[in-house]
Amino acid sequence: MAYSKIAVPSEGQRITTREGKLNVPDNPILLWIEGDGIGPDIMTASKRIWDAAVQKAYGGQRKIAWMEIYAGEKAAGIFGGDYFPAESLQAIREFVVGIKGPLTTPVGGGFRSLNVALRKDLDLYACIRPVKWYPGVPSPLRHPEQVNVVIFRENTEDVYAGVEYKSGSPEAAKVEKFLKEEMGARFFDNSGIGIKPISAFGTKRLVRKALDYAVQNGRKSVTFVHKGNIQKFTEGAFMQWGYELAKDEYGSVTITEQQLWDEFGGKQPAGKIIVKDRIADIMFQQMLLRPSEYDVIATPNLNGDYLSDAVAAEVGGVGIAPGANIGDFLAVFEATHGTAPKYANQDKVNPGSLLLSGVMMLNYIGWGEAAKAAEDAYTKTVADKIVTYDFARQMDGAQEVQTSEFASAVIARL
Ligand code: NAP
Repeated sequence: MAYSKIAVPSEGQRITTREGKLNVPDNPILLWIEGDGIGPDIMTASKRIWDAAVQKAYGGQRKIAWMEIYAGEKAAGIFGGDYFPAESLQAIREFVVGIKGPLTTPVGGGFRSLNVALRKDLDLYACIRPVKWYPGVPSPLRHPEQVNVVIFRENTEDVYAGVEYKSGSPEAAKVEKFLKEEMGARFFDNSGIGIKPISAFGTKRLVRKALDYAVQNGRKSVTFVHKGNIQKFTEGAFMQWGYELAKDEYGSVTITEQQLWDEFGGKQPAGKIIVKDRIADIMFQQMLLRPSEYDVIATPNLNGDYLSDAVAAEVGGVGIAPGANIGDFLAVFEATHGTAPKYANQDKVNPGSLLLSGVMMLNYIGWGEAAKAAEDAYTKTVADKIVTYDFARQMDGAQEVQTSEFASAVIARL
């Protein structure tokens, strides 16, 4: 399609999908959204690192053709006040893979969160957050090295489905009347009402992604985290559909925790992934007290929101936690923190979250060597105690550097 403001790079080729697979050329066009606030600082630094890692890994045989698309404040400036131009969405549909910096979401008012809009409009139904510790990163845990989980959070359903009625509105009154008079429900008059839909379809496609990941990466277990003891037909159903899918589609490579004890005396048989479930509240404790027992996690939207930030805090916080929103092929990788406006344009903040999201992106397109080069160089830099202010204030003997200097230090260690 023709774009009015977006420039398609002439030297790159489109990533396509064929027979259920991504087809990635040697010079793929990858999309980037700069982001608001600290976005420009961390994006500039991270792009330098990704490009250098690709160069290091493939010596010029492979090269990313970057294509900038617009959202947030920069988009509003270019597209006459439009924060989320249709042609940016169209570009993601056409070019499949991209990465974004954080975007501002004004609180309240009629402004839809750009992040939520992206996920919903492109049906990016899985929010994936790998959380692991890098040596030297300050952590509140005594053994942060035991944390190594990948959280698959459902991204489109649950209380995020946007089915909500304001207290006192005619819509809320209508729903209240129906629920009380026809369904026998009891709750206080004039409540605000939110609906929590969770479907077999939405659950199974998310759990399928988690199980595929576990199989492809030789992970040990997949845990369904839910609140099914209270919310039986939504959270409880999520768990049941999860087990059902594991049995029906992954029966040859999975066993349940029950089977582990009943049939294998508690010893995990080779080649089998254990499928288990935990109630959400206890899971928060478990991730603090016994994190090594957890590996891949699949969970509905709201649990996943809380859990991913809480677990990220165990290994250094949102400043380094990477993330991705992925649907059927379309994938938008992202820094998981916000725009931290007070640090905008100071070349100060930690680019780690965006940088490691880019590592996920390189893995996603099958460029594992470049991904490993970037991640290893990042690990060495932090282990050498060269860090930005956020880590420096928690580490003894650290050398505090600017965002751009941090990027140079990583590149020097490639
Ligand atoms: P925030 O931007 O994440 O910042 C909160 C604090 O986290 C910062 O003040 C800073 O802590 C620390 N921080 C965040 N990113 C960091 C980095 N790269 N390096 C070091 N420290 C970092 O959260 P917020 O202030 O609640 O939100 C600001 C805006 O961002 C809002 O408009 C919100 O809607 C938006 N937001 C966007 C996304 C997204 O695009 N995915 C996600 C969350 C929030 P210290 O002050 O302690 O140094």
